[in-house]
This record gives sequence, C-alpha cells and structure tokens, in this order.
Amino acid sequence: MSVNEQMVQDIVQEVVAKMQIAADVSGSRGVFPDMNEAIEAAKRSQKIVAGMSLDHREKVISNIRKKILENAEILARMGVQETGMGNVGHKILKHQLVAEKTPGTEDITTTAWSGDRGLTLIEMGPFGVIGAITPCTNPSETVLCNTIGMFAGGNTVVFNPHPAAIKTSIYAVNLLNEASTEAGGPDNIACTVEHPTLETGDIMMKHKAIQLIAATGGPGVVTAVLSSGRRGIGAGAGNPPVLVDETADLRKAAEDIINGCTFDNNLPCIAEKEVVAVDSVVDELMNYMISEQGCYLASKEELDALTAVVLKDGKLNRKCVGRDARTLLGMISVTVPDNIRCIIFEGPKEHPLIAEELMMPILGVVRAKDFDDAVEQAVWLEHGNRHSAHIHSKNVDNITKYAKAIDTAILVKNGPSYAALGFGGEGFCTFTIASRTGEGLTSASTFTKRRRCVMTDSLCIR
Ligand code: NAD
Repeated sequence: MSVNEQMVQDIVQEVVAKMQIAADVSGSRGVFPDMNEAIEAAKRSQKIVAGMSLDHREKVISNIRKKILENAEILARMGVQETGMGNVGHKILKHQLVAEKTPGTEDITTTAWSGDRGLTLIEMGPFGVIGAITPCTNPSETVLCNTIGMFAGGNTVVFNPHPAAIKTSIYAVNLLNEASTEAGGPDNIACTVEHPTLETGDIMMKHKAIQLIAATGGPGVVTAVLSSGRRGIGAGAGNPPVLVDETADLRKAAEDIINGCTFDNNLPCIAEKEVVAVDSVVDELMNYMISEQGCYLASKEELDALTAVVLKDGKLNRKCVGRDARTLLGMISVTVPDNIRCIIFEGPKEHPLIAEELMMPILGVVRAKDFDDAVEQAVWLEHGNRHSAHIHSKNVDNITKYAKAIDTAILVKNGPSYAALGFGGEGFCTFTIASRTGEGLTSASTFTKRRRCVMTDSLCIR
C-alpha cells in the first residue's frame, strides 16, 4: 500500500470512529444546551432523591454498578478514541473497579450519644445539587464514581466535564440516568451541558443552588474553585515519587514500580512519576527494570530529544500525555520492540522530565547518597502537593520517617500505586483524591453535611 493510500485509510477510520462516538451520545439523557437548565433539572430531581429511602437509593446504585460492568469496554474504547490517551485494557479494569469498589449508602452513617440528658445524633445530610468538574485523564471513571458517592449521600450532580472528553462523559451521564429510571428513581440524577467551557463552569460555580463543588483536575481548576466563595473539594495535581531503600526486595520493587507507572499509560494522578533510590541499589534496580520489566534506557541524546518534544517550549505537550512508550519513542524516531513499555533514565531531581508531572511512561531515577537524602529529594519532588507517594522498604522506621516527612493523602508501601485505589490492595475506590483540601480519598460521606439532631431528656432507655 502506498503512503497516500495508508493516509486516506487512516483518515477514513478516524472519521468513522468520530461518527460512531457522535451517534452513541445523540439524544442522551441529562444533557442540556444551557448550564442553568442543567442545574434546574438537577434541582428538581434532587427533591425526589431526598425523599427516597436509603434502600431505594441502594437499588439505583446496584443498577448503576451493573450498567458500568456491561458498558466497561465501550466506555474504555470511547475514552481512548476521543482523548487519544490511555490504554483500553487498563481503562476496562478502571471501570470495573468503579463498579465494584465505590462505596454506596453503607458509607452514610450516624453517630449517637445517649445518656441522662437524652439522645443526640450526628447525621449525614445531602448538600443538594453538587457541581463537579472532571478531568480528561479519567473522564467517565470520575463521572461515574462521583455520581455513585454523591447520589448515595442524597445529592444530585451537575458536571462541567473536560471538553476534550465530552462525548465519553455524556455517555456516562446518560447511563447513570437510565440506571436510575430503570430502578424507579428520577431522571437527571446526573446532568451536564452539550458544550462545556470555562464560561459554563463559571456559571455553575456562581449558581446559588450549588453549595458544594468537587473539582478534579490540575492546579488551575482547583484554585478557581477554591476562589469561588463556595465550599470546594479540591482534588488537584500530584507528582508521586517512589522511594527505594537498601532493604527493599529489588526485583519485586522493579516489577511493582513499572506496573504502576505504565498503568493506563501513567494517566492516574497517583501513578509513580519518578524514583528516588539510595546509591547502593540504583544499578541493580535499573537492571531489573531493563532486563525483566520491558524498560528502555534512554541515552543522553535521546533524552534531550524527548525533552524537546514532551516539554515543547517549556510547556507540557498534550499530544504526548497518556501515550505509550513506543509512541513516545517514535516521536523522536527511535524504533523499539513491542515489549517496551517504559522509558527510564538516571538524572538529577531538577531534570524537567523528573520534576514535572508528565502523565506518560517516562520514569527518571534519582540517586541519593543515603536514606535521609532520599527523603529530602522525594519531598522536594512532591512539590508540596500532599497527594501521593510510594516506598519500597522493609525497614519500618524508614517507612515511618518517610510517611511523616512527605505527608501525602496516599502512601503505598511495597506495592504498585494502584493498590491505593483498592486494585490489588485493601480499601475502597475513588477517582477524586482531595489532596489540596485534605478530605483525602472521597466517598459518599465526603459529599454530605453533618447535622446534629438533639432530643433532650427523652429517648434514653438505658
Ligand atoms: P485540567 O486541569 O486541564 O482539567 C480539569 C478540568 O478543569 C476540566 O474539566 C477543565 O475544563 C477544567 N478547568 C481547567 N481550568 C479551569 C478553570 N480555570 N476554571 C474552571 N474549570 C477549569 O486537568 P486534566 O488534564 O483533565 O487532568 C489532569 C490533571 O488532573 C493532573 O494534574 C492530575 O494530577 C489531576 N488529577 C487529579 C486527580 C485527583 O483525584 N487529585 C484525579 C485525576 C486527575
């Protein structure tokens, strides 16, 4: 086939793919041309949700879980097709995780004090309509996970999704409303607009019906939400370092680190973004990465070329984000075998491909003279985001020292980063990690307000 024929075929394929996405989302439920209309619809449905029993809410959530599992592959393919980022197989796993491990109404609990002077309860009540801003890196995962938690808490939600992932987000919104009405709940438990922009986001943030905003994204959006005058849950950027000390099982560390770093082409905000290892283990660790984990060791010239492409004119090149290692190497005319899944190199912590949050499988290794130096360098690399960090060590004192110094919402020990989401680790799943505002891993209870309900001098039957 000639180059021209190939080009025509590629263009046709792209157009057909885009048409398929467009067809999939036309006539979707919960989608409005105007943000004010979307909020009004969510407000009407919230009145119905507030009157539903917890049992009924849970029936709706069960149906949402079922539909996510049925649609996991479609959503994964749509996400990759629309954004050009990530890996279909891994995105299927992420959707399965949302379906199976996002907490529902069991997360809504009551605290009680009962004594001589009566009975006092703290109950978790809904905010009403929550505004949510979602990223293009985990688009449908975040829409689905946020809605399960918010709805379990008695809220409805209006999304202003990332414009680069609007079709995938709309597909998820439609699925949520279908699941609700099929289970006897209202329509419009999740709403959005056809064309989200910064302006529609602004309308949402200023609307008087929105009392809580959950922002999942980079530093810009979190700052915008926290300046809005409304209560904000800020799930911002990270740059998670993974520390390796001399007590680590190096072969396993290499495997876990590369599995975590390459998951969905490094899109998750919690994924390993750089390694800091003590001097005595750097060479062995990197050898395992190269010989057993499909890593490609970039030369100085290749690294310079990669830096020029990835951080074009000093700005993160969105065409590189979420791409696999072979594609990234192809951009600098380096061809590698199919089994290459990560690009590694050794460099100082200030190297731009180490210091910047890249969200692609490029993993710099920083050499530290001892454990204390490693902690200091890792803390510097985390940039005070207080988001995620990881460590491979069998020394409990070292782990404790690192945990205190780095002070992140997530710290995974001796495992891949995704164990923090309940994938190969204990605990529940979320795609909104409130790093900036301190709620940590969000769940249904995060999206509720505490209400004190007091009965004096009665109802204590002890
Ligand atoms: P992004 O910041 O470009 O976009 C996120 C969302 O914010 C989008 O919907 C975008 O349209 C909107 N937005 C951006 N600036 C805005 C502003 N000034 N006002 C209103 N809305 C605005 O992020 P992205 O590229 O889609 O996602 C990647 C980033 O998100 C990374 O930094 C990653 O670490 C972070 N992230 C964090 C979490 C978490 O849970 N903490 C989860 C996923 C992604």
